[in-house]
Amino acid sequence: MSDMIALEREYGARNYDPLPVVLSRGEGVWLWDDQDRRYLDMLSAYSAVSFGYGHPRLVAALTQQAQRLAVTSRAFFSDRLPPFLKKLCEVTGMERALPMTTGAEGVETGIKCARKWGYSVKGIPSGKARIIVCAGNFHGRTSTIVGFSSEAQYREGFGPYADGFDAIPFGDTRALEAAIRPETAAFLVEPIQGEAGIIVPPEGYLTEALRICRARNVLMIVDEVQTGLGRTGKVLACHHEGVEPDAIILGKALGGGLIPVSAFCGRGHVLDVFRPGDHGSTFGGNALGAAVGLESLNVLLEEKLSERAAQSGAYLLKRLKSISSPMIVDVRGKGLLIGLEIDTRRASARQFVETLLKHGVLSKDTHGTVARFAPPLIVDREQIDWGVQRICDALREYGPVYEKAA
Ligand code: PLP
Repeated sequence: MSDMIALEREYGARNYDPLPVVLSRGEGVWLWDDQDRRYLDMLSAYSAVSFGYGHPRLVAALTQQAQRLAVTSRAFFSDRLPPFLKKLCEVTGMERALPMTTGAEGVETGIKCARKWGYSVKGIPSGKARIIVCAGNFHGRTSTIVGFSSEAQYREGFGPYADGFDAIPFGDTRALEAAIRPETAAFLVEPIQGEAGIIVPPEGYLTEALRICRARNVLMIVDEVQTGLGRTGKVLACHHEGVEPDAIILGKALGGGLIPVSAFCGRGHVLDVFRPGDHGSTFGGNALGAAVGLESLNVLLEEKLSERAAQSGAYLLKRLKSISSPMIVDVRGKGLLIGLEIDTRRASARQFVETLLKHGVLSKDTHGTVARFAPPLIVDREQIDWGVQRICDALREYGPVYEKAA
């Protein structure tokens, strides 16, 4: 076993169970381990590295800003935050943005904002506001958020849980309609459930959900922390349906794969409920994060990464769907967010991603049944072909594999 694995096991808390590889270098879509073995990254740190490792423009934005001014706190204005806020609003189609650092903080911001909107705008009696969430959701790991998770392991041992959340099945607009009560302030939803195993809802789901929310005076908050910024082939996943919700949460890729940057972006009447002192975070909106976040959005648009993800994603999905293997139960996804569900009678998803690792592909299992493929959006066809070849090699360890003609 590598010294580094032993050292981490000795001194680190055991809240992760990493695959047995020690990464030491990255460039573009490739990662190298401490033995200089090369791997194709098909995880992108769950979309955080959507622009690839060491993107020159992002590294330049980071290093130049770090030398100039990094963190001052929001006790003062900076010359970097306003252009970032403006760009965030242009990209999301929203009117105001509130920067944070991690995705979970962006979600917490949304929960607080929705509740305060519920009391001060909708007129919900004090302390009674409720938020509808979906079964199978993943919105982060704070104590409030895990309280409304349907995943036993995320919850158990971490109660008591915060009140005020009602769970409904994902993709079911009738259930949404039925769950709304006079005290409902918001509906919080992922456009595609990532951690749940790349679950794509029925066509038109978000459109109908927004119609219901508007009709019943309920805010619709879309968590695009994983799906946003090009991942599914559009700048925002809800753009596939042309939906403009009341608020959007961004994170992960917003930090350019370099530092944590997130944001809660919304319509004016939603974010205007916040008064000075209501909410904040020491690092949220710092000059360094703002400079990197702004450059990430510029890179996304100027390099047409959403369009590239749409094309490469369609190609990768087609190639994966054309593989015939007794291990494959289903292949699904949108853009470069793809899940390969495996037959767990033959192997667990964890065993399968360990086999992939051996063949030079980095991926991650989710829910014991799905291996997810979400390479950086800059991945090209040749790299996808290389990856698919390796995926076939890994599948071959469990049974015969052949590719059907496309
Ligand atoms: N929301 C969604 C949809 C996510 O996928 C995640 C993380 O995977 C989060 C929120 C939490 O983000 P973070 O881990 O940065 O707190």
